[in-house]
Amino acid sequence: MENCIFCKIIAGEIPATKMYEDDDMIIIRDIEPKAKNHFLCIPKTHFKLLADMTEKEAEQVKRCLKKIPELKELLQLENGYRLVINQGDDAGQTVFHLHIHILSGQKMGWQPA
Ligand code: AMP
Ligand code: ZN
Repeated sequence: MENCIFCKIIAGEIPATKMYEDDDMIIIRDIEPKAKNHFLCIPKTHFKLLADMTEKEAEQVKRCLKKIPELKELLQLENGYRLVINQGDDAGQTVFHLHIHILSGQKMGWQPA
């Protein structure tokens, strides 16, 4: 998708600290970490919201969710972690390509109420 920063990272047009990549996803370090360890798991298909997802895209997101715990050493998830998917303006979504935040370590930016 034109002008999508995550599509450009996936295409290799913009640099990122890549932790993992396969046919479905790329996992990179967030450039503005909100926790000690902050990664983004980005499905390779461009869509904004879970509500927009096709069945095929939902399968890709499922593979992302399954892969994350498989990478627990690489992503330093051994002591627990949080997954966040911001959806829309009120959630503060700034990049309109669905992505899963992976947060771990002591310095969590916020606590659920
Ligand atoms: P969200 O608010 O859920 O849309 O989160 C977007 C996230 O993408 C933010 O945490 C940003 O710090 C992160 N981000 C934006 N641009 C880049 C980039 N070029 N490389 C890595 N992370 C980025
Ligand atoms: Zn995109």
